[in-house]
Amino acid sequence: MDLKKLAARLIPDEDLPSLEDCERAYPPRKLKEGAEVTRLAPSPTGFIHLGNLYSALADERAAHTTGGIFYLRIEDTDEKRRVEGAVESVIRSLDYFGLKFDEGAEIVGENAYGPYYQRRRAPIYRAFAKDLIERGLAYPCFCTEEELDETRKIQTERKEVTGYYGAYAKCRNLSEEQIYAALDSGKPFVIRLKSQGDVNIKHTFRDAIKGGITVTENNQDVVILKSDGIPTYHFAHAIDDHFMRTTLVIRGEEWLSSLPIHIELFKVLGFDLPRYGHTCSLMKVDGGTKRKLSKRKDPELSLDFYRGAGYYPQAVIKYLMTILNSNFEEWAAKHPEEDYKNFPFSVSKMGKSGALFDLDKLNDVSRDELSKLTPEEMYGFLNGWVKEFGTAADRAHFEDREYIQKILALIMGAGQKKRRKDIVRAEQGVRLMDYFFDDAFAPEYSFRFEADAVNAMLTAFAETYDENDDNSAWFAKLKQAAAKAGFAAENAEYKANPSAYKGNVSDAAEIVRIAITGSPNSPDLCTVMGILGRERSLARIAAAKVK
Ligand code: GLU
Repeated sequence: MDLKKLAARLIPDEDLPSLEDCERAYPPRKLKEGAEVTRLAPSPTGFIHLGNLYSALADERAAHTTGGIFYLRIEDTDEKRRVEGAVESVIRSLDYFGLKFDEGAEIVGENAYGPYYQRRRAPIYRAFAKDLIERGLAYPCFCTEEELDETRKIQTERKEVTGYYGAYAKCRNLSEEQIYAALDSGKPFVIRLKSQGDVNIKHTFRDAIKGGITVTENNQDVVILKSDGIPTYHFAHAIDDHFMRTTLVIRGEEWLSSLPIHIELFKVLGFDLPRYGHTCSLMKVDGGTKRKLSKRKDPELSLDFYRGAGYYPQAVIKYLMTILNSNFEEWAAKHPEEDYKNFPFSVSKMGKSGALFDLDKLNDVSRDELSKLTPEEMYGFLNGWVKEFGTAADRAHFEDREYIQKILALIMGAGQKKRRKDIVRAEQGVRLMDYFFDDAFAPEYSFRFEADAVNAMLTAFAETYDENDDNSAWFAKLKQAAAKAGFAAENAEYKANPSAYKGNVSDAAEIVRIAITGSPNSPDLCTVMGILGRERSLARIAAAKVK
């Protein structure tokens, strides 16, 4: 068969680059020895999740700890799944977490290896498909969906591997007449690889994450160009990762089963194979068993969840680092002030199976990270969240920067040896400050004492309150008021004779605390009252009296 003629009939494009043109246009990168070129290659479906971030962080660290390049490629070969704005959303999401691409789709920078949208690279794929046809390594297939379904059914009944291979590859050996007759009658076709592999042959393969694994040769005649002339993931992956000069392909372990196909494609295309690292899935413990995080059941899988709830981006990243490299935690504990970017990240230390994602642990990391901020920095972080996700009232409160910073200094224990770690994330932190604002203060008082004891304490305290008192004077007056209201001013007195009192001094203080803050727990009450000011504090005490 005249394969050149067939190739020209199947792929008649006149403006295809030559294979040498491609090699020249995308030469090997001039990077220092050991520099990794990695990529995030999402389909623009609009859903970017924690697993993507986990992978992207590994990519970014692998590239940037070796002086390499981390780029963004958009795998948009499936037009049906494309969602408007998805690319911007990927970039924005990663940017929120501080991950920056060096080049790629919509990235301003050196973009010499573009275009980075696969649909815009069609001539390159078509040139290589044409070459494979000419070399007898690819062929047209006219099978309809129904025929393929039928074959699959038979294979399933016979308990055989499903797919297009061996005797099931009906179009593999069509005669010249049959091919041209089909083409003349206008039958749609796809281009398939004519696999040269043998499933009886196994090779050992070194995965950068999983280590030594056994890979069986491919014998599937996979589709390389679909009927619309657009490549499949397999074909585009081989061509793009070659010409974008990727050195390390980090991707989800769901692609492990396609690895034999990719190994064969790189081979027939004459390209060196990049290194691969297949990441394990993120799991969570649910009812005592481990299971994969699920889009349907687990809101924490979506990256939008972290922004909406106001997680501190650096905390999420640091927590993911602890999952990526198990020695990160120890390093971070030894170097509490150091940027996580200085950690010697290693792909080979990544977990080989089921990485456990635990929100409680993330919350702990988050508390720690946030406790290191100054009140000014915390203001900036919370204000960012408030602007995007807060209520109109929150936004109004945050206009008074000085007032908020005073509250934050107290809540965070600024200037104290041991910082408080009350703030876990922005949403919760903002709510934690609500009681400092009358329009957000909606207390449900839950006093543990009878009305007359509560009222007596509140009245006695209000009579002595002087906003100019320092902490110890304030406390001395609280004790006086407690005694006047029938509580023990000293704990020792109370212990010696509990039945003589309504309660001890801390019970009395709790009454005032609930009146002022609505809660039996709060930071230093004297300071809280100082921030609220005399008028507001006394008004709250009056309002809390039991009628
Ligand atoms: N587009 C593929 C995906 O989103 C990329 C896989 C890869 O990184 O090669 O799963």
